[in-house]
Amino acid sequence: MKKTALITGILGQDGPYLAKLLLEKDYKVYGLMRRYSKPNFEHLDYLGITDKVDFVEGDLADEASLINVVKSIRPQEVYNLAAQSFVGASWEQAKITTEINAVGVLYLLNAIKFFSPTAKFYQASTSEMFGLANDDGYQDENTCFHPRSPYGVSKVYAHWMTVNFRESYNLFAVSGILFNHESPIRGIQFVTRKITDGVAKIKTGKATELRLGALEPKRDWGFAGDYVEAMWMMLQQDEPDDYVIATGQTHSVQEFVELAFKSAGLDDWKKYVKNDPRFKRPAEVPHLCGRADKARQKLGWSPKVSFEELVKMMVEADIKRHEMGSR
Ligand code: NDP
Ligand code: GDP
Repeated sequence: MKKTALITGILGQDGPYLAKLLLEKDYKVYGLMRRYSKPNFEHLDYLGITDKVDFVEGDLADEASLINVVKSIRPQEVYNLAAQSFVGASWEQAKITTEINAVGVLYLLNAIKFFSPTAKFYQASTSEMFGLANDDGYQDENTCFHPRSPYGVSKVYAHWMTVNFRESYNLFAVSGILFNHESPIRGIQFVTRKITDGVAKIKTGKATELRLGALEPKRDWGFAGDYVEAMWMMLQQDEPDDYVIATGQTHSVQEFVELAFKSAGLDDWKKYVKNDPRFKRPAEVPHLCGRADKARQKLGWSPKVSFEELVKMMVEADIKRHEMGSR
């Protein structure tokens, strides 16, 4: 019998990478998406798996829709990847961010508790929960949370609700605290993809400049394909537990910019990059660097793609896309 998994956020970045991994492991994969007049399967198409996923409609902001889906599928594993995931938008849209990222997780946990209580549940938590916390320059499972955005706050709620359902109702519910992870199908608003897309536009003569906000913040950037493996590993353990997933290396936005321009064979990044206060945030997370020792020891997980390989992969994919005529 095939194992059955439900992935929310199937049209995003992580959803397609996780679906591909589970399909390779012979799972039946259901992907939850909102109702659209014109759904965008571009990321699933990129990985060549659109026709291998079974799509179901539902919305994290609509409890009854989640109950319907969980009740009809009764999945063995549920990966909750759906979110309003862009920090930058979360100040302007704090309420909907909270409804989807925080209350939506409560809805989904309740649906599982009542209609599929043996299902294993994965919650997509984030290093943004650490925010300002900076114990000894790295963050791990013991670091206190100090979120700096409505997005970070919403994810702290979801994290603790996941832990609470585990402790209260004995659900197999885990929270993966993942540091930033990127790929050629990363959302175009995030700084890495904005940079690689911008570099590709400059390289192919479609743009002359790239407008960015703060260049000083540091992030621990890994490859999404590596990180979805950790999600799956967490649900294969005998006991539910929470794990930090990170590379342990941190780089500034500027370092990403320099490497991206270099990878495209463009010499002087300063000629093209313009500072734009519109992309500065009301409160910044200055420094993230994760320590994933627990995941290494207990899950046997470690990242495979280096920072340099990641930047090169993204730049090359965007140049190819623009050379083929994308806008
Ligand atoms: P994306 O933004 O690429 O994907 C999120 C998906 O959630 C989108 O496909 C979106 O659908 C869907 N979604 C949004 N709102 C709803 C809703 N109300 N109901 C149903 N679906 C909805 O995120 P990623 O794939 O990058 O990240 C996956 C998860 O991991 C997110 O929860 C994110 O917050 C978290 N995370 C990500 C990190 C990263 O670096 N990528 C780091 C740590 C955590 P639509 O296509 O309709 O917009
Ligand atoms: P985040 O870590 O989830 O907020 O991921 P982002 O990729 O959105 O942002 C990473 C860092 O890049 C943050 O410190 C941003 O302030 C910084 N940054 C600088 N310029 C930009 C920009 O133009 N867009 C975005 N998204 N971030 C920027």
